[in-house]
Amino acid sequence: MTRPSLPGHPHFAYLDGALFAENIPLRDLAATHGTPLFVYSKASMLSALAAYQRGFAGRDAQICYAMKANSSLGILQVFARAGCGFDIVSGGELDRVLAAGGEPRKVIFSGVGKRRSEMRQALNAGIGCFNVESEAELDVLSEVALGMGLRAPVSIRVNPDVDPKTHPYISTGLKDNKFGVAHEDALRIYRHAASLKGLQVVGIDCHIGSQITDSTPYLDAMDRVLDLVAAIEAAGIPLAHIDFGGGLGINYNDDTPPEADALWQQLLAKIDARGYGNKKLMIEPGRSLVGNSGVCVTEVLYVKPGEHKNFCIVDAAMNDLPRPAMYQAFHAIVPLATAGKPSAEATYDVVGPICESGDWIGRDRVLSVAAGDQVAVMSAGAYCMSMASNYNTRGRAAELLIDGDAVHLIRRRETAEDQMRQEQLVAD
Ligand code: PLP
Repeated sequence: MTRPSLPGHPHFAYLDGALFAENIPLRDLAATHGTPLFVYSKASMLSALAAYQRGFAGRDAQICYAMKANSSLGILQVFARAGCGFDIVSGGELDRVLAAGGEPRKVIFSGVGKRRSEMRQALNAGIGCFNVESEAELDVLSEVALGMGLRAPVSIRVNPDVDPKTHPYISTGLKDNKFGVAHEDALRIYRHAASLKGLQVVGIDCHIGSQITDSTPYLDAMDRVLDLVAAIEAAGIPLAHIDFGGGLGINYNDDTPPEADALWQQLLAKIDARGYGNKKLMIEPGRSLVGNSGVCVTEVLYVKPGEHKNFCIVDAAMNDLPRPAMYQAFHAIVPLATAGKPSAEATYDVVGPICESGDWIGRDRVLSVAAGDQVAVMSAGAYCMSMASNYNTRGRAAELLIDGDAVHLIRRRETAEDQMRQEQLVAD
């Protein structure tokens, strides 16, 4: 029996007309756990990680999973056990890393707005590095560390002003973005950092954006970063590591991003050519480790034909899958069962039950669906559950991690009671 996997999703495949995650039919999971339901493939996550590990074979490198992509504990646990560190952006994310068994010394702390309390929490935990995003943050971090009798290890996030050619909301390395310090100011700011008693400069950092599908912006950014490494070290400030961020894209809709190992061969060639091959390398991939490792299974509630548009109303919504509403993003939508389809094909806007016209999941999709059918929204492993909300008092979906024949419930479905737990009525 053949099992043609779906493009970009090697661990999600049809067998006898039923869509499987690894060895388990998704329809069985939906029958047991209900919908909407996120289903992740562990093998898929580990094979995405392996592409980076191949790229760094024989190098001193640390892969820090950018957990904002998906911060569910069961997902973090897979990466922690595989030896990954974590790129965090809040004290809450640090709590999650520790709860999932991650090692604090492999944690790097990014983000433009770290609070003093978060700095103290991270220093207490003994994280590996703070990726500092402004001069003002350097001063505050030094003061906080000195107050604790410590020196904070720092990298400065440098903005290489390279266009990653992605959606404007996920471009981060341009001059007008709020992230990092300007390339032309970097040397001066490094000198300032080196003069602060509460800091120890350990590296340089850059991250240019997300869902990047072309190698060129990466190669250009690497040139700009290596120019700075030369200038900073010439100023007498040694840098132990180069952190090149994340951002590698995935195949959502016939996208053809470079493979992680091939991209890194090109980037390492640049690093070696400049004589920096002995520096520790850090990277912060998020989407490319989990995006195509997860799907969201949802049930068709109603089919609503219209004069100009047909709507396929499903039980997942923008609170579960915010990317289409936020970035007009594309997720493929495929049936869980292809065999014996009675319904005629038609073109639908696939929408959720939320009271917003922005609550759509796919537009102009040709589907053969009827009420009660189930479909899988593909590429839902990244920036879906971690961005999910309770809008319209909808409980967040359940999450399953599939490992071959094993099914692990990693998040139970949220109830209205869960949602109201932190709230209280005003006393009379
Ligand atoms: N590192 C930083 C600083 C980020 O802001 C992000 C996401 O925007 C990432 C890493 C992860 O990016 P991606 O999920 O595209 O790999």
